[in-house]
Amino acid sequence: MTRFTDIYLRRVFKTIEKNRLVENSDRIFVALSGGKDSASCLYCVKRFADERNIDCEIKGFYINLDDSPEVREPIKSLVEKLDIELIEIEPPDIRKYRGSRPICSVCGIVKRYLMNKIPREKGATKIATGHNMDDFIVFFLKNLVGKNYSWISNFKPKVESTHPKLLTRIRPLFNVGNREDERFCEEMKIPYTKKHICRFKARECSYNRKRDNWYSTLYEIEKWNKSFRQQMISAIEDVSTLFKKEEDLKECSICGEPSNKEICAYCRIFGDASGGI
Ligand code: AMP
Ligand code: ZN
Repeated sequence: MTRFTDIYLRRVFKTIEKNRLVENSDRIFVALSGGKDSASCLYCVKRFADERNIDCEIKGFYINLDDSPEVREPIKSLVEKLDIELIEIEPPDIRKYRGSRPICSVCGIVKRYLMNKIPREKGATKIATGHNMDDFIVFFLKNLVGKNYSWISNFKPKVESTHPKLLTRIRPLFNVGNREDERFCEEMKIPYTKKHICRFKARECSYNRKRDNWYSTLYEIEKWNKSFRQQMISAIEDVSTLFKKEEDLKECSICGEPSNKEICAYCRIFGDASGGI
C-alpha cells in the first residue's frame, strides 16, 4: 500500500461504514462494466467484507453487450483474482432496435432494467455500481439546470428500495472520483479496460463526449480550488435529502417489473410489435 491507496481505501471504507452499505447477511451483486470504477468498487467491497469479517455474499454481475474480449478479459481476471463468482448475461441485441430513441438511451434502459431484475431473481439484496463522485457532481449540475429536481433525491451513497421488486442500490465510490479510481487500480494492479465504454461507437451519441467536457471542467476548477469536488459532493449529499422522489411505482402489465408507467420502458422497446425490435 502507498500513502495514496491507503487514503483512498479509508475514504471508501468510511462511505461503506457510515451508510451501512455492506452488512451481515447481505447478498451484494457488484455491476461490472470492465472499467476502472466498477473494478475498484468490487475490490473495495470485497476487501471491506473480508477485513471486517462481515458475513455476506458478494458476486460480480456483467451484462455482456458486445462480446468484446477487451472488456470481458479484465472482468474475468478480476473475479478470478478476488475469488468471486461472476454472473454473466446477454441482453437482447440492441443494434437491431429500429425505434426513434437514441441507441445510448436504449442501452441505458436495458442496463438499468437487467441490473435490477436478474440480481433480484438470483437472490441479491443489494446492487452496487461504480458510479463515483465526479459522476454525481455532473448528474447534479445537469439535473439542476434541467430542473429535474426529483432526481436529485437519488444522489446519495445508498438508495433504499421503494418496492418489493426493486433492489437497494449502493455506491461505495460516492466520495472518490475518476482520477482516484484510475490511480487506485493502477497502483493496486486491479485489472480493468481503458476501452471507452460506449460499445456501439454510436455517431449520434454525444453523451460520452459531453460527459468528458463536464469532467474536465470539474478538474479545471480544482486547479484553483483544491477541495472543490469534495465540498461539492458533501453538499450534494445534504441537498439530496431535501428533494422527494415523486415515485408511484406499479408493476409493468407485461413483465411485472417495477415501473412508473403502465408498461415499462424495457417492454415498450422490446415487448411487442409496437416496440421496435
Ligand atoms: P456507466 O453508465 O457506463 O457510467 O456505468 C455506471 C455503472 O453501471 C458502472 O460503474 C457499473 O457498475 C455499471 N455498469 C455499466 N455497464 C455495465 C455492464 N455492461 N454490465 C454490468 N454493469 C454495468
Ligand atoms: Zn415491462
